Amino acid sequence: MSKRDYYEILGVSKSASDDEIKKAYRKLAIKYHPDKNPDDKAAEERFKEAAEAYEILSNPEKRQRYNQFGHAGVGGASGGNGGYGGGMNMDDIFSQFGDIFGGGGFGGFSGSSRGGGRRVVRGSNLRIKVKLNLQEIAKGVEKKLKVNKFVSCNTCKGSGAKNGTFDTCKLCNGSGVQVRTQQTFLGAMQTQTTCSGCNGEGKTVKDKCNTCHGDGIVRAEEVISINIPAGVAEGMQLSVGGKGNAAPRGGINGDLLVLIEEEEHLELKRDGSNLFYDSYVNFADAALGTSIEIPTVDAKVKIKIEPGTQSGKVLRLKGKGLPDVNSYGTGDLLININVWTPQHLSAEEKKALEAFRASKNFAPNPNRKEKGFFDRMKEYFE
Ligand SMILES: [Zn+2]
Ligand SMILES: [Zn+2]
Repeated sequence: MSKRDYYEILGVSKSASDDEIKKAYRKLAIKYHPDKNPDDKAAEERFKEAAEAYEILSNPEKRQRYNQFGHAGVGGASGGNGGYGGGMNMDDIFSQFGDIFGGGGFGGFSGSSRGGGRRVVRGSNLRIKVKLNLQEIAKGVEKKLKVNKFVSCNTCKGSGAKNGTFDTCKLCNGSGVQVRTQQTFLGAMQTQTTCSGCNGEGKTVKDKCNTCHGDGIVRAEEVISINIPAGVAEGMQLSVGGKGNAAPRGGINGDLLVLIEEEEHLELKRDGSNLFYDSYVNFADAALGTSIEIPTVDAKVKIKIEPGTQSGKVLRLKGKGLPDVNSYGTGDLLININVWTPQHLSAEEKKALEAFRASKNFAPNPNRKEKGFFDRMKEYFE
C-alpha cells in the first residue's frame, strides 16, 4: 500500500511553519469530521489520513525524519499493527484534538463529542529486536527479554501524589469537564471538553511523590516473556498488547513491538517456508549411486543418490521446510545435487580417465529425460 505525501495531504509546502500546519489540519479535521459526515467511509479515511500527517509533521523530530527518509523513517517495519504505519485509530485522533482545539473545545468538534469526561492517556510503545536461529523459527519459541521501561510508581500507586494528597481542580471544580454553549454552523451546541487543568481527573496533585516527582511512573527493568510463533521471518513485527511503557498517572500501557531478526544458517538457505541445500557428490558416486547425509532443521538425514544422477538434479524432502506463520502448511527442503568435477588429478588418475574418454557411455546425451533448468525453476515457483 503506497501512502500519500504528508505535506500533500495537508496541502502545505515543505517549508510550512508549525502554525500553517496546525491551521491546515484544523481545516481538514472540520471538513472530514465523522460527526459531519456520518457513514461516509471516504471522509473517514481522509480524516484519519490528515490526523496521521499532522501527528508526524507537528513533531519536529518526526518531521525531520520524514523529510529525510520518507514514510519509512516514521512508519517502522511493515506488517505490524503498531506505529504510524498501521494508521491511527479514532481514540488517538480524538485525544490529539485537545491539543489542536485547545481545552475550550472548538465549534462542537472535540474529543468529548465521543462521550466526554476523562481523557485516556496511553503509554508509549516500546520497540525491541529479537534475533532467532532457524531451529527457533521452525518450532516457535518462548523468549524472556529484559527490557528497560516506564512502570507505574509503587510508592504512590501511580497517582503521582505523596500520601494520596490531592486538591480539587479549580478550573472544573472537580467535574473533570468544561461545558460551554456555542453557536456553530450546525446550530447551537453544548460542548463538553476534557478539563485542561486536570486532564479530566477532577483533581490535581497537592504534594508530589518523592519517588516519581509526580509523574506516577518510574524507569525499571522488567523481564517480559513472549511467545514467538513458528515460521516468523526477518523484518516481521509482533505486537504484544499492554507490555509497553506505563502511562503517566494511571493511563493504559503502550504496546511492546518486537522486531524479528534472523540468524543466518551456515548450510540451509531460506525462501519463505522452503529451505535450500547445496550438495556436492563426486562423479563416481553420481555414476554408480550412493547415499549421502544432509542437514535438516532438526537432524542429519540420509538420502539416496540414484546411479546416473545428473548435476543440477533437485531432490525434494516434503514437509522438511518451515511452518507457514499464516497457515497450517509446511514448506519443503529442496536439495540441489551438484556433481563435482575433480580439479587436480595424479598422473595415474589421468591415465585411468583417458581410458574412459572415448567411451560412448561418457558422451553427454542432450536428449536425456531429466528436467532441464527451466522446467525445474518453473516447477519450484508454481
Ligand atoms: Zn479540572
Ligand atoms: Zn510516585
